[in-house]
Order: sequence, then structure tokens, then C-alpha cells
Amino acid sequence: MTKEIFCGDVKIGGGAPVSIQSMTNVNTADIPAAKEQIRRLREAGCQIVRLAVPDMEAAQAFSELKKDAGVPLVADIHFDYHLALEAIRNGADKIRINPGNIGGREKARQVAEAARAAGIPIRVGVNSGSLEKDILEKNGGPTAEGLAESALRNAELLEDMGFRDIVISLKASNVKMNYDAYRLVAARTDYPLHIGVTEAGTLARGKVKSAAGIGALLLSGIGDTMRVSLTADPVEEVIFAKELLRAVGLRDSGIDLVSCPTCGRTRVDLKAIAEAVERGLASIEAPRGRKLKLAVMGCAVNGPGEAKDADLGVACGDGKGVIFSKGKIIKTVTEDEIAGEMIRMVQNL
Ligand code: SF4
Repeated sequence: MTKEIFCGDVKIGGGAPVSIQSMTNVNTADIPAAKEQIRRLREAGCQIVRLAVPDMEAAQAFSELKKDAGVPLVADIHFDYHLALEAIRNGADKIRINPGNIGGREKARQVAEAARAAGIPIRVGVNSGSLEKDILEKNGGPTAEGLAESALRNAELLEDMGFRDIVISLKASNVKMNYDAYRLVAARTDYPLHIGVTEAGTLARGKVKSAAGIGALLLSGIGDTMRVSLTADPVEEVIFAKELLRAVGLRDSGIDLVSCPTCGRTRVDLKAIAEAVERGLASIEAPRGRKLKLAVMGCAVNGPGEAKDADLGVACGDGKGVIFSKGKIIKTVTEDEIAGEMIRMVQNL
């Protein structure tokens, strides 16, 4: 079992459920925009939010962002250790650095000292695109072995300073290299691992790479916290991460959503309705010990049957939907009211 670390009140490692992280993509110093994105991520089910800290303004924004974040906030730092120190002073719950690019041993030591005094962990994040020169030369370019060596070397740098609240990540955009690197490190250390496939790509391609790369690691029992990287709204990363955890049997919201594939009989925008219901369900869990089945169906052929069989369902007609609960018709609503009504009913169950 991996070592237990706390990021705010979220336990990472030590047998804790795999937590979901994402990263904002707005300017961290634009406080209203950053707050709004943190809120959306939290409501989608994101448990830890990371923010880029490219300058002092971003580091100082943490004190304001922390006030109503509702989730731990991680400061993502490269190159300038002053930014890490300032983010820690402003309440960051965790720091992500690459000790190899933070400017040398003495500067890394100051960051470790400040993190220890604040009682927060450090993620040592190495990336195939920024491996140390000697490691690249030794291996003839980025390799799984090189990534593992770099991550362990940088973790040891902090260990030598007496700092052990460490989470390790070592990401490559090459799925096989990524997988091999994590396996090597998992066999050589008990530090918790933050897993992901970096720069996985656009929605469709990125999901496939993440499903293969992160899914394979999770099925091998590797990974304590995860981030899906997509070139998309970060909320999509969280929705997909939850689906992935469900697919590999590591998370169960207790809610099963079925929807029909649509056909020439469909007279509503069922894809939009089903997606809106799915988004609305993202942060909802079934009441303790219960399983719920929801059905979003396109017409009166199979729709009523399937919808009646569900705890909550809709069978759509021309621009409207008949909502059923456990076989009983509850009401008929217009097309644009269907998703909101279903989510409200689930929340009231
Ligand atoms: S439920 Fe109706 S709309 Fe949906 S696929 Fe079946 S027949 Fe077509």
C-alpha cells in the first residue's frame, strides 16, 4: 500500500479511494473567472483543483480563491521558487513542482521547508518533455526508465531534506511509455502516485488515450489520484474521470443512466437531453445503499416500457416528454424542461 498523504481534507494513498483532480484553464489572477471555474469543477465532482502559477499575482490570488473554493487548491509552479513560497504563504494546499527545474538544491530546500511549516505536501511532477539532460543522454531520449529515474531522483532530493509528504507523477503523452514508467516507479517506491496521460489531446482522441493509459494503470492497482488531460473544458475531464473510475469498478454513484440511440422516430434533441441529464448527475450520488435507474428514451415505441421500468424515466414525444417514476406517469413537460425536471426529481428522492 502507498503512503498516506493529505491534500487539504482529501486523503491520497494509504488505500483511500482514487481522487479526481483537474486544472483550471483561465488566468489564475482573474479571480472571478477562476472562482467560477473552481465552482463548476467542484460541482462536477472534482475533488482537488490545480491552478497554474506563472507570476506573483497568480500566487497571491490563492488567499482569495481559497475562501470559498470548497476543495483543496494546488499551485502548479515551474522555474521560480519564489512563486512556490508565495503560493504557500497564500494558503495553497499542495505544491506541484519539478525540483529539477526549480533552480537548484538550495531553492528546492526553501520550498520544502515552507511546505513542511505549512503542513502541505509536494507533488514531484516529471514530464517526458522536460527530463534532465544527463538522463536524456544516458537513455538516448525520453524513456520509461528515464522518467522513473528522474522522478525518484527528485523525490530523493526532497527526502534528503527530511521531507516525505511527497506525491509522484511522471507523465508522457506516449501511452505505453507512460504505463511502463508508472509500473517501474510503483515497484520502487511507496509514495502515492498521481496518474494521468499528459497532453492526451482533443475530446475524442484524449478520452481514448486516457481510457487506455489511465485505465490500464488503475486495473493494475496503480494510482492514488488522477487527472484526465483533455484539450477541452476541464469539467469534461472530471466527467470522464468519473466514468473511467466506474468502468474499472473503482467508483459507483449508484445511478445507472440508460438512453436510446435515437432513430427516425425521435422528435426531440435527445442527445442534448441525455447529455444534460448526465451532466446534472455528475455530482449526485444515489441515497446510501440504493441503486437508481434512469431512462431517457426517444419515443413511444420502446420509450414508455423502458421509462416505466426505471426509477425515473422520460419517454419523449413531439417536443415534449412524459416523465414516469416507478411506472407511474408524473407529468408531461416541454423538451427544454425535461433534463432540469429529472435532476430535480433525483435530488428529491
Ligand atoms: S426508443 Fe424510440 S426513438 Fe429511441 S431508438 Fe427506440 S424507437 Fe427510436
